[in-house]
This record gives sequence, structure tokens and C-alpha cells, in this order.
Amino acid sequence: MKKHIFNPGPSVLPEFTLKNTAGAVMDFNNTGISIMEVSHRSKDFESVLNEAIALFREMLDIPAGYSVLFLHGGASLQFVMIPYNFLNRKAAYLDSGSWASKAIKEAKLFGEVQVVASSKEQNYTFVPSGYTIPEDADYFHITTNNTIFGTEIKKDIDSPVPLMADTSSDILSRPMDVSKYGLIYGGAQKNLGPAGVGFAIIKDSMLENVGRPVPSLLSYKIHVENNSLYNTPPCLAIYACLQTLKWLRELGGLQAIHKINLEKSRMLYDEIDRNRMFMSPLTNADDRSVMNVVFVLKPEYAELQEQFLELAKSKGIVGIKGHRSVGGFRASIYNALSLESVKVLVGAMKEFESRS
Ligand SMILES: *Cc1c(COP(=O)(O)O)cnc(C)c1O
Repeated sequence: MKKHIFNPGPSVLPEFTLKNTAGAVMDFNNTGISIMEVSHRSKDFESVLNEAIALFREMLDIPAGYSVLFLHGGASLQFVMIPYNFLNRKAAYLDSGSWASKAIKEAKLFGEVQVVASSKEQNYTFVPSGYTIPEDADYFHITTNNTIFGTEIKKDIDSPVPLMADTSSDILSRPMDVSKYGLIYGGAQKNLGPAGVGFAIIKDSMLENVGRPVPSLLSYKIHVENNSLYNTPPCLAIYACLQTLKWLRELGGLQAIHKINLEKSRMLYDEIDRNRMFMSPLTNADDRSVMNVVFVLKPEYAELQEQFLELAKSKGIVGIKGHRSVGGFRASIYNALSLESVKVLVGAMKEFESRS
């Protein structure tokens, strides 16, 4: 039986992506060659790469003057690449979660880092607001969706300096105004494809701001100049990303998926608020993530944690155990997680309440 996969990452992918990728592993484009065996310099593979880039552009409505890259190293390597390339004097960061703090740690290796606000002391139960972005910073870095704590910045914020956004866990979940960003980046394994590839959407004019010699593989400029083919790219992972992008287009693009995502998250948050046993640990309901829904048992029921996980497991639900830094539960309801799966989880919550 196929499970209801609420994994935080790697996570559920569309059946369309799994089937087509499995097919291409055996025989890519009727060439008699596997996608794992094909040359990354071949015409067949270059057209996969270019189609993936073109679809990324189409889905996010990326304006001219931006390049789309597929890169190795996940989001975490870009925590390093961003300051390596762009932190010349000082960078500003918003500390809204564990991933943000990891990005801050790397940036400190390269220069002054000004943390404009942090919710760390409150275990990241909200997205800090009311801060000022320093106008003398080289850039301002945010994490749009805090995968572990279940908070999200759902608007494209205004920044007087280039805005750099880790969008690993909410990329392609809603329309974005790309023109407000200097760089949008992340790992693919939450909402796009398998682990092993990441993406970057970079404003080309940013490349003029590079202030120090950068090793080739960490240089955005080198990757742009080589159309993500400076070295051997993760061909299989890129192929899978292309399938997800095709699936998204077929579904009606980001407006359509956003509507579905809002419906899924509303259904789940409504149940968390209604059910007498569960609660949200977040202090500001406006921050609730549409992608990672974090919830806990109320203190009086806290000892029933394992029982709920057992019940969920019996329904084919996997991946809802909360991150160790939060406890409780986390339902990651990325694009490919169906409304049906959310209904099964909500059903389990109702059953748990009536049984207890
Ligand atoms: C998962 C995740 C990361 C880490 O991604 P890697 O590809 O493993 O480096 C970084 N930021 C966010 C917001 C994430 O969800």
C-alpha cells in the first residue's frame, strides 16, 4: 500500500514524477540509454536541462535579467556561496529558525553579520517583525519557510538591499514576485525533486557585486556562464525536477497549486484548533506555514504522544513525528501531498479524540 507521506524532506513527490523518472532510468527518450548513463553534454540531456529551466521560468514568471541554476550541495552549500560571493562588508540576516541560524553561522566566516531580529529565545515560535533592514548591508537574508518550526513569511517583503531567500520548503507553492529578490534558492528535496540537486534564481546584476576571488564551483558567475554545466550535474535529479515542473503546469501552475495548498492547510489548522487534544505551539496565527503544519498535544494529554503516532501509523500515515527541537507532530503537506492524505490525518485526529 502506498503510504500517506508527510515526510519533511526528502518528501512526497507526484506519481507522475516517480513513474516517468523510473521509466527514464530504464530507457531515456527511447535512446536505449538510461538517464544515469547518458552524457550530460548530449543534446538529449541538454534539452532536459533547458526545458526544466524554461518551465521554472514559466511557473514562477521569472523576469528577464535573472538566471536559473541547478546546483549540487543542497541549500546548505549556498549558505556558504552567498557570503563567499556577496558579503563584502556586512550582511543582514533574519534569525527565524534553525536553517536561518545555520546560514548565519556560515556568513560569519566571511565578514560582519548583523542579525536584525531573532525569535531564538522563544524557540522560534514566531517570525520576528518590526525590524529595520540596514541600508549599508550588502544583502538581507531570509528563510521564507521555517521547515522545522512551521512558520512562514508568505509575502514578498520590501528590502532596500538585495533580498536573498532560502525557499527550500515553499518554492513553487505559491506565486512570488521574483523581481523583489536578488537570489531565491534552496534544495529540491522538499517540493521539487529528489535530494542531490538545488536551485538558484539569481538576478544577473548581482554578479557584478562579487568582491573576492571565489573557487569555481562556489561561484554563481561560473555556473551562470556555463548554464549549470561547469561540471557534471546531477542528471537524474534534474530529470525528476523537470517531471514535477510538467506536473505543476498540467495542474494549472502556481495559482492552482496555491489554492489547493491553502485548502489543505486550512483543513488541518481548523482541526488543530477544534480538537480538544491538540494545539499549535505558534504564538502568532498569521505565521502559520502552509507547507509544514506543526502541532502538539495539549499539556494534559502530553503522555499520549506515542499512542497518536501508533494510530496514525495504522492509517498508513508516515513522517509526522515532530522535529526533536519542537517535539509533538509536524505534517509536511508539500505540493504533491494530496488533499486525500490530509483528510486521512484529520480523520485520525478525530478518532483519537473520540477514543481518549
Ligand atoms: C531542508 C532545508 C535546508 C537544508 O537543505 P539541504 O539541501 O539539506 O542543504 C535548508 N533550508 C531550509 C529552509 C530547509 O527546509
